[in-house]
Amino acid sequence: MPDRNTPTRLELSPIVAGLWRIADWHLDVPARVRWIEQALELGIASFDHADIYGDHRAETLFGEALKAAPALRSRMQLVTKCGIRLRSAQRAVQVKHYDTTAAYVRAQVEQSLLNLRTEQLDLVLIHRPDYLMDAAALAQTFAALTREGKVAHWGVSNHGTGQFALLHRHHPLLTNQLELSPLALHALDDGTLDQCQQLGVRPMIWSPLGGGRLFTGGDAQALRVREAMTAIAARCGISLATLAYAWILRHPSRPHPITGTGRIEGLREAVAALDVQIDAQDWYAIWTASKGHAVP
Ligand code: NAP
Repeated sequence: MPDRNTPTRLELSPIVAGLWRIADWHLDVPARVRWIEQALELGIASFDHADIYGDHRAETLFGEALKAAPALRSRMQLVTKCGIRLRSAQRAVQVKHYDTTAAYVRAQVEQSLLNLRTEQLDLVLIHRPDYLMDAAALAQTFAALTREGKVAHWGVSNHGTGQFALLHRHHPLLTNQLELSPLALHALDDGTLDQCQQLGVRPMIWSPLGGGRLFTGGDAQALRVREAMTAIAARCGISLATLAYAWILRHPSRPHPITGTGRIEGLREAVAALDVQIDAQDWYAIWTASKGHAVP
């Protein structure tokens, strides 16, 4: 964890572990501690959360593990997100919407600190682009929470190039967390990954396995991609999951894939991709299978 008032440049681990699904894993506290320890042993030291994950329960589940094993905190980077207000009778929200006002961002950051049982969040992302975002005001909120030592670094997720540029102009953003997988190619064309390369900002990549659709999807695209990737993976002597991570890591923006698996073997398959370099023909064969046609 960076020193409270001197935010150095944050280094995320090459593979990041995502906790969106932690509530589905049904791990008791000792098992959660063991899961974190095993991730760390594999070199996965950055953990991706959001205030809303697990119906607002995910951060607390992770925080309970950190309370049981507080020494783990200094070995990791904690990433979380805020800005989405889900419909909820308890919270008097009738319409799902985005909120980047100072009061809301501050309240969510302070709640995340409590949930994760930490004094500082290493990186906080605005989860989705808020059409009502006042970039200058939001940058002031970022600066205030950084001055107070509550957040070391800021970034965004799912922001288009203009939205990223607007906020980045007012406050340096560490990342744009984007969807990319052999089943979701839009970031290759919408300029977001180009912008990351241009600015030297390393993107974080969500749903690298298409949320599991890579293995189980019965639609035509998933069937094509699975067939093409199964053949390449067999030739390379790696698993389908490892090939998917290697395909993402091949992108020159130097992305950080975020795993979604609860299985340690699943984490191992992600880390294995760091030793795999696929060539351009295999990369394009997967692109071709995903699109259903060759490049022009
Ligand atoms: P993912 O890796 O694409 O999907 C994970 C799912 O795939 C899990 O249900 C996992 O089940 C399954 N899976 C993995 N390997 C499998 C295999 N060999 N066979 C069958 N199923 C397999 O990632 P994700 O969970 O969708 O997203 C990853 C992280 O990205 C999240 O935890 C979250 O931190 C982040 N995220 C961010 C946003 C955003 O808007 N910023 C959106 C979505 C997600 P097992 O547990 O059984 O392996």
